[in-house]
Amino acid sequence: MIEKIRQLEEQSLALEPNAGARAQMLDKVVRYTEEFLNRQPRGPVFCVSDHEGAGLLDSPIAEDPIDIDTAIDLYRENVERPGINPASPWHLGYVPGGGLYHAALGDFLAAVTNRYSGIFLASPGAVRMERMVLGWLGNVFGFPHTMAGDLTSGGSIAHLSGIVAARESRGLKARDFERTVVYLTPQTHHCVKKALGVAGMKECVQRTIALDDHYRMSAAALEAAIKADLAEGLDPWMIVASAGTTDTGAVDPLEAIADIAEQCGLWMQVDGAYGGVFALLDYGKQLMRGIERSDAVIVNPHKGLFLPYGSGAILVRDGAALRQAHRYSANYMQDEETLASEDEISPADLSPELTRHFRGLRLWLPLKLLGVAPFRAALEEKLLLARYFYERIQEIDGFEVGPYPDLSIVAFRYVPKHGDANAFNQALVLAVQRDGRTFLSSTNIDGAFMLRVAVLSFRTHLEQIDRTVEILQEKVRELESGQIATGGAR
Ligand SMILES: *Cc1c(COP(=O)(O)O)cnc(C)c1O
Repeated sequence: MIEKIRQLEEQSLALEPNAGARAQMLDKVVRYTEEFLNRQPRGPVFCVSDHEGAGLLDSPIAEDPIDIDTAIDLYRENVERPGINPASPWHLGYVPGGGLYHAALGDFLAAVTNRYSGIFLASPGAVRMERMVLGWLGNVFGFPHTMAGDLTSGGSIAHLSGIVAARESRGLKARDFERTVVYLTPQTHHCVKKALGVAGMKECVQRTIALDDHYRMSAAALEAAIKADLAEGLDPWMIVASAGTTDTGAVDPLEAIADIAEQCGLWMQVDGAYGGVFALLDYGKQLMRGIERSDAVIVNPHKGLFLPYGSGAILVRDGAALRQAHRYSANYMQDEETLASEDEISPADLSPELTRHFRGLRLWLPLKLLGVAPFRAALEEKLLLARYFYERIQEIDGFEVGPYPDLSIVAFRYVPKHGDANAFNQALVLAVQRDGRTFLSSTNIDGAFMLRVAVLSFRTHLEQIDRTVEILQEKVRELESGQIATGGAR
């Protein structure tokens, strides 16, 4: 047996490259990422490729290894190239993500040192670091120090966690769900309904509250709906308000909604996945007044704080509600449970997850290395770029805009001289996307096919907005003159 063990040890040593091998691999990876970053200002933001990354399949997972050069080549060709490039400054579609280099270095440190961030005892430092960044975020929204939070993989899971906390704090059981009412709007992100389903609450009553002419939730309609439901003997339970909708960036009237939630005893959950961090600006703070009275806020550092994907957060004003929803115990966790001080609460007691990525470091490192000021500046820049686009696009004949942007998303469309506007705009967005120099997305608002510009990449500056306006003009000319057929662009 000893001989066999030694033989296996010999083989498994491949898992631990020596200093020379490490330096060599690191050098290759860094060279590739440098080349990638240097290409960003010019490279295509959207690439339709024939094989769509299927080249990966030609190199199956096998007993034999490949070298780092081959691996990087496979990655470049099959993963980096096809599809949308969210690291590009030209990404103005959906809600752009980030990719701060400092955060990537944080991930590298977290992975190499592999701290266990789920349990205080395992890594008190990692847990304190996470609590610190969550506390900082909570402070942005004016939450008291008795709040609690969790760093999640994104907004969807953060909503799920909030819904479970709201369900438990009301003591709702399956038999109650058919009488339990949740208030949404037509602009609520679809992940909320999905999370209600995952939380087992598909049967609850989902009321869709009317919007005002800025696509914000109408507080009057909300109040009327709650009163009507109470009169019917239903149980109004939760309001999901938006602090920046995905379609138009609209911020619901949070102060008025907080009044109603307070009066009627509802859980108020604010979806700030896209727009929440604009509260770092005085303007955003004003706009989101009332958010400090909500029960839970969802934010996505992988959007507004420019982190790589995989960073959401939930903040719950009454920390005990989050803990009550997620705390479990088990015999094999007894060492951890002897610790009881408030200071030593573990992320695992505030989260559906136990073992997880050490997400605090990728947020802490950029905030510490850069300070908060450049984040604030970048957010204000994006806000102004959206307003600038809003002004410029309507100066062009034929373009019409939606409401003045609350944050950094502008909805607009082109009304052609002849023919169907919806078909034209559909062709226009496809023509722009295929062109590959800039990337927009579209949506449907009240039956109108609308284009959207969402400015949120930290790499997007004035140049990208000016060029995007020009590209839009160019594509409209081509479509109007029949150079690209409206039907044939598909
Ligand atoms: C992106 C987004 C979500 C979903 O977040 P994920 O991180 O993609 O799960 C929810 N709400 C809004 C407003 C969003 O923009």
